[in-house]
Amino acid sequence: MENTIIIGSGMAGLTAGIYAGRASLEPLLLTGNELGGQIATTTEVENYPGFPDGTTGPELYETLQRQAEKFGTRVQLDEVIEVEFGSPVHRVKTHSGEYETKSLIIATGASPKKLGVPGEQQYIGRGVSYCATCDGFFFRNKNVMVVGGGDSALQEGLFLTKFANKVDIVHRRDRLRAGPALQERASQNDKMGYVWDSVIKSIEGGTAVDHVVLENVKTGESVARPVDGIFVYIGHYPNTWLFKDKLAMDDQGYLRIDAEMMTSVPGVFAAGEVHDHIFRQAITSAGYGAAAAIATERYLANLEHRMARVEQW
Ligand code: NAP
Repeated sequence: MENTIIIGSGMAGLTAGIYAGRASLEPLLLTGNELGGQIATTTEVENYPGFPDGTTGPELYETLQRQAEKFGTRVQLDEVIEVEFGSPVHRVKTHSGEYETKSLIIATGASPKKLGVPGEQQYIGRGVSYCATCDGFFFRNKNVMVVGGGDSALQEGLFLTKFANKVDIVHRRDRLRAGPALQERASQNDKMGYVWDSVIKSIEGGTAVDHVVLENVKTGESVARPVDGIFVYIGHYPNTWLFKDKLAMDDQGYLRIDAEMMTSVPGVFAAGEVHDHIFRQAITSAGYGAAAAIATERYLANLEHRMARVEQW
């Protein structure tokens, strides 16, 4: 029987691992198949406290994993396929085994949204990407588009200018959502261009992408435009399908939690972007991970106290 199982290896999961490990809970952390979560696919991280010169997502992830393991967290490469909530014992089924646990910390995060246009699925890995860190290198001296107008689109677009000849931001409005600091940096980079008021209607090519059809949402006009790569940064959806009809969620599928980080099932806690669609920062997810682990420790201490009293009677 496990004290606690942490599901997810992003900022929230690993920080929960550090805190729960340090509280001697000997947590089992099941990584999921996206090791390190979103931070592992982020290029530069400039706003994580303690790194005045910035760091990279993969570096941050590796450091946190080492720190969690140092305190006894067992990080296991495995994916959860089913969870059965009980009282007080929960069952977690993975690809390689089945576990019983007294508590759970759900830190399954969020995943990038897709455009949902013809050609997108077909050209993933052959021109369509959701991760500039992973795939930017393949677009050396090529022309790419980045879809979206938020911080991610600009930050990853700027990263792509290290490789590509030209990076065009395709945005559905005529004003960016991204913060002023990134907008300023982008305006100083002459490889960056903008296609305003436009959406991609389809992605086309042969064995790899060679053009997209763009529609101007104001005029309704469509135009084919040659491009080698499309990077999509249009937001995220929470990874909560495992918990559908089992845990309370809002209408967008984010888990509902109380002030003690507990979901609608006692002993089951949530941390990070699986419940937070407001702040969505590496540091806030880490903070939620710490809070969830502290709450878990208190819950387990109470549980043991109650069990001891039952045994006494
Ligand atoms: P976001 O802020 O939600 O921006 C998503 C962008 O995609 C918006 O510009 C949106 O357009 C556009 N969009 C949404 N659905 C679309 C669709 N179907 N077709 C075309 N465009 C679509 O997401 P994000 O940029 O990933 O940022 C998420 C959070 O992480 C934010 O809180 C952000 O501040 C934070 N973040 C911070 C940093 C940093 O500080 N350096 C870096 C990355 C992310 P509209 O503008 O019209 O809604």
